[in-house]
Formats: sequence, structure tokens, C-alpha cells
Amino acid sequence: MKKLNQNKKTDEVFMCPECGLSYREAEWAQKCEAWCKQYKSCNLDIIQHAINSKK
Ligand SMILES: [Zn+2]
Repeated sequence: MKKLNQNKKTDEVFMCPECGLSYREAEWAQKCEAWCKQYKSCNLDIIQHAINSKK
């Protein structure tokens, strides 16, 4: 998991390096990364929490 630092600390987001989606919570980014690595696909239940999820 890669932590992206933006202007303010409160704007910190956590990016899944596998698929590039960003999350407000580190927990979701970790879940996404684990899923992406294992299944090489996206889990809708996880990516719906992403900031920049595609629709
Ligand atoms: Zn991912």
C-alpha cells in the first residue's frame, strides 16, 4: 500500500498499487491490494469505497 500525501494531513489517501484506486481509509486500500494481488481483478464491494472508482 502506498500512502499519498496531499496538501493537508486530513486529505491523505491510500492507493492500491495494483489497480491505482485511492481510498480514504487505509483498511480499504489494504483489502483492495490483497484482493488485486490474489485475484487480478476488482471486487465491487471494495472498489465502491474508492475515491476514484470507475462506474
Ligand atoms: Zn486494487
